[in-house]
Amino acid sequence: MTEIPNSSNIITIDCAALTHNYRTLRSRIPDGVELLAMVKGDGYGHGMVEAARAFAAGGCHIFGVAELCEGVKLRNSGITGEIFIMVGFLENQADYFFTHSLTPVVFTKNSIALLSERAVKRNCTIDLHLKIDSGMSRLGVMPDQIEEYAEYIDELPGVTLAGVVSHFYEADNPKSSGTNSAFTVYSDACHRIENTFSGIRHIANSGAVLNFPETLCEMGRAGIALYGYSPDGNRDNARVGEERLRPAMKFSTRIAMVKEVPAGTGVSYGHTYTTTRATRLAVMPVGYEDGYPRCLSNQAEVLIQGTKVPVLGRICMNLCMADITEIDGVQIGDEAVFLGEQGSEVITADDIAQKAGTISYEILCMLGNNNQRVHIE
Ligand SMILES: *Cc1c(COP(=O)(O)O)cnc(C)c1O
Repeated sequence: MTEIPNSSNIITIDCAALTHNYRTLRSRIPDGVELLAMVKGDGYGHGMVEAARAFAAGGCHIFGVAELCEGVKLRNSGITGEIFIMVGFLENQADYFFTHSLTPVVFTKNSIALLSERAVKRNCTIDLHLKIDSGMSRLGVMPDQIEEYAEYIDELPGVTLAGVVSHFYEADNPKSSGTNSAFTVYSDACHRIENTFSGIRHIANSGAVLNFPETLCEMGRAGIALYGYSPDGNRDNARVGEERLRPAMKFSTRIAMVKEVPAGTGVSYGHTYTTTRATRLAVMPVGYEDGYPRCLSNQAEVLIQGTKVPVLGRICMNLCMADITEIDGVQIGDEAVFLGEQGSEVITADDIAQKAGTISYEILCMLGNNNQRVHIE
């Protein structure tokens, strides 16, 4: 017995849903405008390579990741097309952009100089995308530095300014004026180099693709919508017209034990819950170690036999308990669903996120990247 047995906890990814979501979002975008698929965070917990393949099946040929290591892994897995590295690279890593045909997003002169030097050594040129800070106060040069950086790139051999990038800080909120003001800052900056710049502009994330399509420019960069969720946490907004985006992730386990306890029994660490009646409990091998947040103690719900039941008491490292008093015939080994559908009921990442005081993105990453994943077509 050398093989390691499977965990009871399984993430199931519906790859057809990912493909559907790419096609659906694509239908929102005018012909001639590109749609990059963000697959950072191991594809928002869905598996970077499998997610990229599913989007490619929907027509995607441009991908984005945060770090260089992710881009190299993606390329080594046979993904073709353009791969953007969004958050820079270390001094000694510039060669990877050439050996693995990766596209750098730059925001420091040092990184531009390093890429220029490597390009000259290799007797080739490389396309750079310059990042502008349009109000996020994260990566990017300030808008009034755009000419200086464009000139710097122009003067160096081996490097071409192929794009100007920025990122919206509030596009998930269709009512916020933040997106319009950020877009004005960004457009004004692009305007200042229009005589010399012939590359592409891209700033629109999922929120902007869904709520502010007039900001698409030459390319959108979508993440969360491709995984079936609206960035504002509202399920009703996860759609293009009448076509719904489909969540692709399910998280389920197998019940480890069923037990009956009398009224007045404390449940789990600290006895933060005490039964008020004779209670039947399902004990499940899911805890915060599996990415299921402890702050959901006494708040979470789980699907058993197609019924939503409450999680009682603290969520432990590897275990939690649900109240199945109202359900008959639950057996050890039965499926319990923490995220996704069972029967006609569903628990979404937005439902979990709302209870945990966070956003669907974090729930998808935490569950997806802490459990064994199975991809189905
Ligand atoms: C993550 C990310 C996106 C995609 O954001 P979503 O809200 O998931 O659509 C786009 N651009 C950059 C720079 C990002 O980091």
